[in-house]
Amino acid sequence: MSTPPLDDRDGVIWYDGRFVPWRDAQLHVLSHGLHYGGGVFEGERVYDGRVFKLTEHTERLHASARELGFQIPYSVEELDRATLELVARQGIRDGYVRPVAWRGSEQISVAGARASVHVALATWEWPHVFSEDAASLGIRLATSRWRRPAPDTAPVRAKAASLYNICTLARDAADEAGYDDALLLDYRGHVAEATGANLFLVSDGILYTPTPDCFLSGITRGTVLDLAADLGIEVVERHILPGELGDFEECFLTGTAYEVQPVRSIDAHEYRIGKTTRALSEAYTRLVHAPADAATGV
Ligand code: PMP
Repeated sequence: MSTPPLDDRDGVIWYDGRFVPWRDAQLHVLSHGLHYGGGVFEGERVYDGRVFKLTEHTERLHASARELGFQIPYSVEELDRATLELVARQGIRDGYVRPVAWRGSEQISVAGARASVHVALATWEWPHVFSEDAASLGIRLATSRWRRPAPDTAPVRAKAASLYNICTLARDAADEAGYDDALLLDYRGHVAEATGANLFLVSDGILYTPTPDCFLSGITRGTVLDLAADLGIEVVERHILPGELGDFEECFLTGTAYEVQPVRSIDAHEYRIGKTTRALSEAYTRLVHAPADAATGV
């Protein structure tokens, strides 16, 4: 059975402070967010009915909006409360939450200051990012011709909708070539990240990850770095060149949606799912299912 499109489902969406019927959560075609990319969003994961690191995500939504020069008209506390009420109303146990904020339709102009700001929250049952096989055997990446931009070219610290054009182009090209995802280099040619996840590599039991100076330093990335410290795994954060990719034995991606996702290959370089990847993946699964307050962030 195919899943219904996202605009044709039952339930409610939180929209500018009210719960509205799912199909009524619409916006005007002349919205700044649509024409000029005035929009930011989040992706959150619900485990056992709890939102993992909710407050961190809501704070990042606020920070992303500030990077784009607008203010979200609801406090972090208000959005956290609305999210929890929405998840409860929708009866989501294992799912996804998509908060989004965008500039409205007061004028058709690149200028954004006069545009109103709108916010919506939606949640639905968890969609798997990759097939079960790909998830357990590791996914295959191809290096994209698209690159992460320089910090003076784009608001690289924001989870901004406009930055995802690059990811969509890279992901579609990877899909078309028969890969699971793309690896993007940055504007200098350093290894950066995948289209929706951060990258880790392992050599001799040491964990390496690129310095996030021009791409999102993910919340999952931070969680995995904390888990590595707990497990006594040495971590090196540094610039990594594509020519080094053959020097590592293990590779994985991290992201709210990807979780800890093993990588089987990048171009012609092959990796195995080794001890370090397994240990971190298991520790991550334990943490997200832990009933502790630390897992909810609220
Ligand atoms: N990079 C990009 C481009 C992403 O879209 C994501 C997903 N939000 C990440 C990294 C990982 O971030 P997080 O762990 O906070 O989900």
